[in-house]
Amino acid sequence: MTPVTAFSGRKVALFGLGGSGLVTARALAAGGAEVSAWDDSPASRDKAAAEGIAVVDLASVDWAAFHSLILAPGVPLTHPVPHWTVDKARAAGIEVIGDVELFFRERGKIAPGAPVVCITGTNGKSTTTALIAHVLRSAGRDVQMGGNIGTAVLALEPPAEGRVHVVECSSYQIDLALSMAPTIGIQMNLTPDHLDRHGSFENYGAIKERLVAGSDIAIVGVDDEPSKQMARRRAASGLPLVRISGEQPLDDGVFAGVTANGGALETRIVQVLDGKPRIVANLAGIGSLRGSHNAQNAAAAFAACFALGLSADEIAAGFKSYPGLAHRMEEIGRIGQVVFINDSKATNADSTEKALTSFRDIFWILGGKAKDGGIESLRRYFPNIAKAYLIGAASDLFAATFDDDGRVTYERSGTLDAAVAHATRDAQAHGGSGEIAVLLSPACASFDQFPNFEVRGDAFRALVKALPGFEPFGVK
Ligand code: ADP
Repeated sequence: MTPVTAFSGRKVALFGLGGSGLVTARALAAGGAEVSAWDDSPASRDKAAAEGIAVVDLASVDWAAFHSLILAPGVPLTHPVPHWTVDKARAAGIEVIGDVELFFRERGKIAPGAPVVCITGTNGKSTTTALIAHVLRSAGRDVQMGGNIGTAVLALEPPAEGRVHVVECSSYQIDLALSMAPTIGIQMNLTPDHLDRHGSFENYGAIKERLVAGSDIAIVGVDDEPSKQMARRRAASGLPLVRISGEQPLDDGVFAGVTANGGALETRIVQVLDGKPRIVANLAGIGSLRGSHNAQNAAAAFAACFALGLSADEIAAGFKSYPGLAHRMEEIGRIGQVVFINDSKATNADSTEKALTSFRDIFWILGGKAKDGGIESLRRYFPNIAKAYLIGAASDLFAATFDDDGRVTYERSGTLDAAVAHATRDAQAHGGSGEIAVLLSPACASFDQFPNFEVRGDAFRALVKALPGFEPFGVK
């Protein structure tokens, strides 16, 4: 844990006692702050009270004594309307901040030079965060990884010289981190998301840009127009900037290029320094970094690790051993030439698109609770589908798309266990010389059959691991 000693002796109000809020309350108390905490949920309040955290109904206390309001990132700061605690804080004239801000204030107090890498963007945050942490660890660095990726930032060990923090930041967390100043700030990409919470696309972008602006070194993806504009403004400021791209050559920075090697297409990472390009890593054969989206993630990770002093060889070696994240095109293992991929996190067609572009012969398990537009946008990838297996509530809708299209053979498997059994049987009978994928990439929410996408992916993994002849990933 990182005790927040920077708030020692201060009275603070804290709202939101879910996962990261509870950690924040503990870290403030451990640092000597006097915390008055509240949550709408009685269960969360009871849990905090059982740990000795002062649970105080913030609706009926005098706010004049508080130094700050600490808000959990899930609680609305501005949109659709500010939470009532935010109104109270504004009326009392006190700041409203979150756990990432507390982390940066503590770092400023105890280890101002300690390296911190912050990663944001609409997509690829977790992958890039995990990849950077893995590469740094593989090179022998002392690494703490957390933030939006799972472990709350204040649950990590404190910042220290020689210890790198790699922190995934959501837009909500940046919105509550007024003075964040990472050593390296990465902005991956920007597409409309969470607009209900940020009011407009412009505001959402402006929040992400604060991370770029506050960084000693900014690494900015230039594959979408709003991010490209952020890079331009950063360049105009004269502060250090590394542009990255997953799809286009750059005059300066780090990009991914696809080259033909015999019959196979291979993705290489190219670094351009002082106008001179050099190939620094080859992603061919790295199952955890398949797909053009991962080329952007690898380019960003390369730029960050290089800026932290790793050699190109160290970074390339780290890429090779990257295990990938669970539920995001996770390679579970194989039976012969059939590879089993768990992409349960793909809860909409956009995410599933990434998986469908990454394989040629796909036995595709999909369905669940459909999103707007269903799988209509995926028609151009249907030639890659050897057969589809429909599960859950979306079966009729998706069957209608397949019927209308006419190119995809499918069955209504109904449940995941039937789909896995049938897809495995058919994939093994398929033959041919190339890689054959049994792919769970549902393009749907899970709630009709599973509590969440993790449980769905875990169920898939368990079914696959029980198949005769299964060899887990990494076992040669
Ligand atoms: P995030 O943490 O931003 O949600 P993840 O790394 O967890 O991102 O990836 C979630 C999904 O987003 C992946 O399964 C993939 O479909 C897609 N994705 C990952 N990286 C990128 C990227 N760089 N650009 C676009 N989409 C991406």
